[in-house]
Amino acid sequence: MSRSVIVIGGGVIGLSIAYQLQRNDFQVTLLEKGRCGGQASGAAAGMLAPFSEIGEDQDDFFRLCVTSLGLFKEWQSNIKEDSNIDFEFSESGSLHVVFHEADVLALKGRLSWQKKWATSARMLSGEEARELEPALSKEVLAAMYYPEESHVYAPAYVKSLEEACRKVGVKIIEDTGQIYIHTEKNSTYVSAQNGGTWQADEYVCAQGAWGKELEETLGVSLPIFPIRGQICAYQGYAESVNHIVYSSQGYLVPKENGTLINGASEDIAGFQTTVTEKGIERLTNWNHKLFPFLKEIDPFHTWAGLRPATLDGYPLIGKLKEHPHITVALGHYRNGILLSPVTAHIVTSILKNEKTITPIDLFNPERFS
Ligand SMILES: Cc1cc2nc3c(=O)[nH]c(=O)nc-3n(C[C@H](O)[C@H](O)[C@H](O)COP(=O)(O)OP(=O)(O)OC[C@H]3O[C@@H](n4cnc5c(N)ncnc54)[C@H](O)[C@@H]3O)c2cc1C
Repeated sequence: MSRSVIVIGGGVIGLSIAYQLQRNDFQVTLLEKGRCGGQASGAAAGMLAPFSEIGEDQDDFFRLCVTSLGLFKEWQSNIKEDSNIDFEFSESGSLHVVFHEADVLALKGRLSWQKKWATSARMLSGEEARELEPALSKEVLAAMYYPEESHVYAPAYVKSLEEACRKVGVKIIEDTGQIYIHTEKNSTYVSAQNGGTWQADEYVCAQGAWGKELEETLGVSLPIFPIRGQICAYQGYAESVNHIVYSSQGYLVPKENGTLINGASEDIAGFQTTVTEKGIERLTNWNHKLFPFLKEIDPFHTWAGLRPATLDGYPLIGKLKEHPHITVALGHYRNGILLSPVTAHIVTSILKNEKTITPIDLFNPERFS
């Protein structure tokens, strides 16, 4: 008989885990207090960019990100097939641009070790970068070209994933209000603010930036806190940009629907997802340094989401010692879209008592306890 699992949280992490578990013969129910994809996952720029994001360390977190990028092509194709809902997956490649000589050295340094994974990556002069990106500023001195990096249109990816979950048999229950997990001597169960209660053989906690709320019940330290990301989009300028263009100040991502996404600021504002003038100005004050045509244009759309950050920047993935039927998958911070397939694979392996696709000791959820 197949084992039952309750997944709490309907962001990209909870949905991905639910999808993969159900495809591996678990019987999954996903509980979401609001709407699936209604928080960070629906707000993301959708970059799948481990090489641009992680330039300092070839640790197991970097390997986790690179492994996930490697899984993405087949993963997104399976989701499209199961959901019958298409979404943009663009293998556009990316340019990580710099303006100063000292930064060129840093880029060369990262290429020396990233080359093993980013086999097609190469340094470009400013002129070579402008051959690929004709609208790029003349001030750009050099760029790292990562042909392997790609992006998805995050809101559509999450919608498709949700539908794929339903089609493969995941029972999704939304608008439950807050879900609480109860661990009593001989039984664990969950209850909802709206009155429902559920029980299963296994529980997976994927509450994103709200993960810290579990600390008291589970008796472990889960230092997860929300980092607000404010982001904006320009209507009709996507055709002026061909790649993800990444810099130390932020990034631009052209989408197939014609919008050019410009992200993202970082600040601490509790659980507020409001957009502030200051937050958007942090983007609009520098973006024309990359693309001068942006100086004259205002974004047509602004929004914000809460990245689930952890104290050391690494996610928390794994089973809890005191509660062996509870697995957490939290704290994916800036890379939850990228990390969705690998997290789903890892949690499925954990529940099947199989070896995980990459080492996970670094992500031990009890490392702060
Ligand atoms: C502006 C911005 C840009 C980003 N760009 C990128 C990018 O380009 N690439 C990338 O890989 N990542 C990006 N990210 C990061 C990415 O969005 C996150 O890492 C990812 O969405 C986290 O997914 P999650 O499922 O853990 O969290 P969420 O999407 O926040 O989902 C958690 C869900 O749990 C629910 N929940 C919480 N508590 C409870 C409870 N007690 N009971 C029931 N449900 C509950 C919430 O309602 C929510 O729906 C970006 C983030 C932001 C904000």
